[in-house]
Amino acid sequence: MSGFAIAAYHRLVIKVGSSLLIGEDGRIDRAWLEGLAEDIAELHGTDHELLIVSSGAIAIGSMVLGINMRRARLEDLQAAAAAGQVQLAHAYQAALADHGITAAQVLLTPGDTENRRRFLNARGTLGRLLERSVVPVINENDTVATEEIRYGDNDRLAARVAQLVMADALILLSDVDGLYTADPGHDSAAEHIAEVRKITQDTLRMAGETRSDIGSGGMATKVQAAQIATHAGCSTVIASGVIRRPLRALVRGGRHTIFRAEGTPAAARKQWLAGVLEVCGELRLDDGAVSALHNGKSLLPVGVIRVAGNFRRGDVVALTDTAGSEIGRGLAEYSADEAQRVAGCRSERIEEILGYRGRSVVVHRNEMVLFDRDS
Ligand code: GLU
Repeated sequence: MSGFAIAAYHRLVIKVGSSLLIGEDGRIDRAWLEGLAEDIAELHGTDHELLIVSSGAIAIGSMVLGINMRRARLEDLQAAAAAGQVQLAHAYQAALADHGITAAQVLLTPGDTENRRRFLNARGTLGRLLERSVVPVINENDTVATEEIRYGDNDRLAARVAQLVMADALILLSDVDGLYTADPGHDSAAEHIAEVRKITQDTLRMAGETRSDIGSGGMATKVQAAQIATHAGCSTVIASGVIRRPLRALVRGGRHTIFRAEGTPAAARKQWLAGVLEVCGELRLDDGAVSALHNGKSLLPVGVIRVAGNFRRGDVVALTDTAGSEIGRGLAEYSADEAQRVAGCRSERIEEILGYRGRSVVVHRNEMVLFDRDS
């Protein structure tokens, strides 16, 4: 089997399952983590942007606090997560620092990726960390996320993160090396599937029959994660991490399943924006702004000549030219009221006008779709 062609991908989300990171004694397996850090450093050095989504807080914290995970109440698991997360983050920070890489802890709840207003905040912060070559180490904010509002498993969280940052590859490392036609533990005729071009009912059925990873939901959640990610233009790989230097092994031909993305992340985001029916307002732009947008720039306050409608940050607004024709759409970084106040002003004056340090753009170029000029 040929290896995963990692060079073809730029922004990677690596998901690490609890079973990999935690040794039989219930503590962090430092040797394994050092191997992963070596892999990360190698990729980081070859111009890849990396984000890690790591599980393990609850398992580590349960050990520290002497809590029996299987019988614990939610509050106990949350307490365990609080004690475990600080150790988890520290372990990554130390392992990456050995390679001169700065790590940053980011804890998310579903609202941060599913609510458009908060989505802009999380995206902004993660983007800035990547620009500074920092490796974000992400987990669910388990100490505040209760049952009804949890992602529940980090496969789904990792897929949402991939969608949020427009990653082009998501690698799910766990104790399984991919999808099989049946459960290989019970059926000797089960065959490994190297590539999935489209996730169908049949794929989901096969996933339902295969168990995996002690930490989370198993193969079904991995395929659901792949469904979210591939739809967002991000190819997804399921590979075994039960090996030292798991990413190197994957590249060198380690067995895995790849779910191919449908299009690119940028195309998926634009398709979504173009299809949003509820447009909450309008920003009319001067000619300079219209041509700047067509040259791939973000919309700055200085180019806005009129604000209409009653929208909030994160809502979709129509972008119109001086004649009032809709040239595109985008997610507003400001509410209608704020946009009104900063319209026509240079970005440096935003703080003086609003009384706080706002965003420098009114619509970010990644959150914007422009319609074909002749359509
Ligand atoms: N967020 C959980 C933890 O850090 C893990 C969830 C999962 O295993 O997917 O313990």
